[in-house]
Amino acid sequence: MDHGRIATMDGARSVVDAVAVRDGRIVAVGSDRAIRPRIGPRTRVIDLRGRTVTPGFGDAHVHAVASGVDRLRCDLTGSRGLGTYLAVVASYAEAHPEEPWIRGSGWSMADFPGGIPDRADLDRVAPDRPVYLESRDGHTAWVNSKALGSAGISAVTLDPHDGRIERDADGHPSGTLQEGARSLVTRQFPRETPEFLAAALRLAQGELHALGITNWQDANVRPGAEEAAYVALAGRGGLTARVVGALGWDDARGAEQIDELVERRARTTLPRYAPTSVKFFIDGVLENFSAALLEPYLDAAGRPTTGRGQSLIDPRALKGHVARLDALGFQAHAHAIGDRAVREALDAVDAARRVNGPSDTRPHIAHLEVIHPDDLGRFRALGVVANAQAYWAALEDQLEHLTLPFLGPERAVRIYPFGSLLRAGATLAMGSDWSVSTPDPLLQMEVAVNRVNDEHRGEKPAFLPGERIDLADALAAFTVGSAWVNHLEREVGSIEVGKTADLVVLDRDLFDRGTGAIGEARVVATFIDGVAVFERPDLGG
Ligand SMILES: [Zn+2]
Repeated sequence: MDHGRIATMDGARSVVDAVAVRDGRIVAVGSDRAIRPRIGPRTRVIDLRGRTVTPGFGDAHVHAVASGVDRLRCDLTGSRGLGTYLAVVASYAEAHPEEPWIRGSGWSMADFPGGIPDRADLDRVAPDRPVYLESRDGHTAWVNSKALGSAGISAVTLDPHDGRIERDADGHPSGTLQEGARSLVTRQFPRETPEFLAAALRLAQGELHALGITNWQDANVRPGAEEAAYVALAGRGGLTARVVGALGWDDARGAEQIDELVERRARTTLPRYAPTSVKFFIDGVLENFSAALLEPYLDAAGRPTTGRGQSLIDPRALKGHVARLDALGFQAHAHAIGDRAVREALDAVDAARRVNGPSDTRPHIAHLEVIHPDDLGRFRALGVVANAQAYWAALEDQLEHLTLPFLGPERAVRIYPFGSLLRAGATLAMGSDWSVSTPDPLLQMEVAVNRVNDEHRGEKPAFLPGERIDLADALAAFTVGSAWVNHLEREVGSIEVGKTADLVVLDRDLFDRGTGAIGEARVVATFIDGVAVFERPDLGG
């Protein structure tokens, strides 16, 4: 490839004109003149004509299998508003008369008063079959009366310890199930076949490759679900991406599950698939007050309540689990939204460091919606990677109406503090959390840089402009940062001689703002080991 702008993301963040690849590896990086003698009679030369080449993107937190499954089911992700949702459900029901359940996902809490939808609406379009639809963030389910009935949920059903059944004024379940209450319904679902799961993963992999993603960490690998998909696809050589699996920690059980995790790691490690991480849900989400905060939530009038959210794992037990897993060579991958959850995750790594000394497991904390200022410096001190979902760091309905009012002004200035984390020396990785939000890394980088999302370009002000970061830092988070957290930095993450040729060609000079918004850039081709896994016809060469 020549005549381009090649953002190598090496230590000096060098930008060069050309890169040469042979047998899947990068063999030379430099000026057009230096590379030209490498061209042989059978070399494919791609004239970049000013386009940008970057290292293949790494998504450090994605639910690839689950997102592929969403695509194969009643998929509401492209829709907005009650009327549209109901139309999609109705047409799905009509197209799939044989399915005993209508299952789907992708509705947005912002489309319902208080974020809580009603069973009666679903009953109108699908009265005869149970319907179960997960919200976009995967923490809430919207169900119809048939689904409540089949799960035996009625006015006398108690809330489970880890969730909530939303109710009408008269105490009847209204059709929204929060967090652990969803399992009252989902435990009836039959297991998916490995063929269905592998097809879902293949679909997701194709979508991710088309967005320039060549490696990722699957953020919740469950036996019989994600695990079966990776084993099936990698086992038959169909996994082109390099993937780290974060094995889901079952918070209903304790340390006794560690032996199982060790056994699963040994049994399911395959070419391109390394199940070497363990995912802990430390808390829930702010929108339903299940995220764990140091100080109480406010009520709608701005007065403090008594609620501080839930720690889904006892913090003392968490320390023990993380220390043991760290000693066994497992990485800890924490879901932490509230400032108390972030602190509990950092405390657990601190405890592991005290017991085990330094390790190379590279623990990381994802989401990081609110961080107490005292904890910013601990990421660097403890070697914890900050795993940012940058797309969320913009003003939109959910943040403005369901989150900020309940935090109050003091905490509202500490949301998604990516700039502060970088200034405090933290290593930043980025990931989409697809299908919670878009898997497109360029749209996410745009928000990291501008703190305005693509739906509100030129419309909304930057959200906490002091937390904006440079495009080069955002690109680093999606390349070297993600490679680091996935222990892949020897192979991928930068364009340097000896590394594998995982490369992305973008349709313009990404760093020239005269070419439009960052998220308007399009991937022209994606290469893994020098082989195109996605290529538009206009690539040339
Ligand atoms: Zn996630």
